[in-house]
Amino acid sequence: MTLKVDSELCVGCGLCVGSYAGAFEFDEEGKAKVVGDLDETTAEEAIASCPAGAISK
Ligand code: SF4
Repeated sequence: MTLKVDSELCVGCGLCVGSYAGAFEFDEEGKAKVVGDLDETTAEEAIASCPAGAISK
């Protein structure tokens, strides 16, 4: 599953980048960006774990 990050909501905490390194990286503004896919279960975890609610399907 390919997720989306709303850069307006992302606070750059790094949780998704640290936890799902193949799927998220920081962009040049220190916000997360999507760089890979996650399986369904892991994607749901990533969505639920973002403190800013910035990750969505
Ligand atoms: S977990 Fe959420 S707020 Fe933190 S870097 Fe990822 S998208 Fe941004």
